[in-house]
Amino acid sequence: MSKTVLILGAGIGGLAAANLLRRSLPKGSRVVVADRERSVSFAASYLWVMSGERKEERLSPPLDRLQRKGIEVIEGEVEHIDPDKRKATIGGASISADYLIVALGADFIPETVPGLVEGGLTFATLAGAARLRAALATFTEGRVVVLTAAPLYKCPAAPYEAAMLIEAGFRRRGIRRQVTVELYAAEPGPMGVAGPAVSAAVRGMVETQGIGYFPDHQVTKVDPLGRSVEFTNGKRAGYDLLVYVPPIRAPQVVRESGLIDKSGWVQVDRNTLATRFPGVYGLGDVTSIPLSMGKPLPKAGVFARAQAEVVARNIARAVSGSGREAGFDGHGACFVEVGAGKAGYGAGNFYGEPLPAVNMRRPSWLWHAGKVLYEKYWFWRWP
Ligand SMILES: Cc1cc2nc3c(=O)[nH]c(=O)nc-3n(C[C@H](O)[C@H](O)[C@H](O)COP(=O)(O)OP(=O)(O)OC[C@H]3O[C@@H](n4cnc5c(N)ncnc54)[C@H](O)[C@@H]3O)c2cc1C
Repeated sequence: MSKTVLILGAGIGGLAAANLLRRSLPKGSRVVVADRERSVSFAASYLWVMSGERKEERLSPPLDRLQRKGIEVIEGEVEHIDPDKRKATIGGASISADYLIVALGADFIPETVPGLVEGGLTFATLAGAARLRAALATFTEGRVVVLTAAPLYKCPAAPYEAAMLIEAGFRRRGIRRQVTVELYAAEPGPMGVAGPAVSAAVRGMVETQGIGYFPDHQVTKVDPLGRSVEFTNGKRAGYDLLVYVPPIRAPQVVRESGLIDKSGWVQVDRNTLATRFPGVYGLGDVTSIPLSMGKPLPKAGVFARAQAEVVARNIARAVSGSGREAGFDGHGACFVEVGAGKAGYGAGNFYGEPLPAVNMRRPSWLWHAGKVLYEKYWFWRWP
């Protein structure tokens, strides 16, 4: 029977869901994906834009390329979601579907910290990473402060990788002695959701590179003129260049949809990603999945992609009436770039009880090569 699947958001999760559904649903069925952006992008490469190893133009293939695969693309703002009716308003037009997948990610809200936008630069967006690359290229001496502006942000490894890549860049340019690199984190330790051993391993990688690490420092405001950051613990840090990871929240259209719970994110079944509305799924950063260790599942593309596969398989199963139900098992992996062509590699089961069962492999060129290969695969496979 022909059905329509509407996917809101063509990021890492939405793209994977669209591709997998197009392959598995019968020809007459419609797979429709909506996004406000004209091009897709792969945030895991932004750190290489910052470090000068990638050009931003190469990282943004056009979204409408999906049409060649038989996936319908709507370019526009998702303005309203009605999960009861499995309906959305996109760019003023209403569209309803048999299945609705909400994959709208998380919005950056740096403006909630006074002075942060005016005083700092971020690698969290493609344009931001390019601006930061330019600022780093002309930086010759002084103090660089990397700051996580809230304990919850996209990709728990990213700020640690950023600090290490920045430090390695100064070494490469022969100016390391003239520069201090410090990382002030709102969280109590690196990648705490992966367990204490992984956290200690990443902290070790950072400190081995001579980067000052200051956990439990929640920024209250930034003084762009005086070039200083103030924290809730009364401390203050001066800087010459401030690099920040912005706080996040669910997009407004999602917060107004009735899909979120008290966490502020879309509530889903942790195995099937089903919401409480029949035929409506949430996946990726827009969801919050509580873990027994007390923190939510990290917001990372590796999970968005794996969850997309589960949702796509279960929708295909519901349409065809055959096959086994798929479930998301909490497994994930992540490369941790340390600079000089090396990366660590953490992998394991984040649904582990009582703690996630995640191991961190020591930095080597092999894991860096793994990340480069994965990037190539991603651009070949999904957009
Ligand atoms: C610098 C950086 C490095 C990272 N590195 C890694 C990494 O190495 N490994 C990893 O696993 N993860 C990494 N991540 C995290 C990863 O990018 C995200 O977790 C992932 O993109 C989440 O996928 P998603 O599909 O849920 O959301 P997204 O990929 O963010 O997609 C959401 C989409 O929804 C669209 N959208 C939002 N609101 C609207 C609206 N109202 N109307 C229309 N469209 C809308 C957006 O334009 C976007 O295309 C990194 C993130 C950053 C910022």
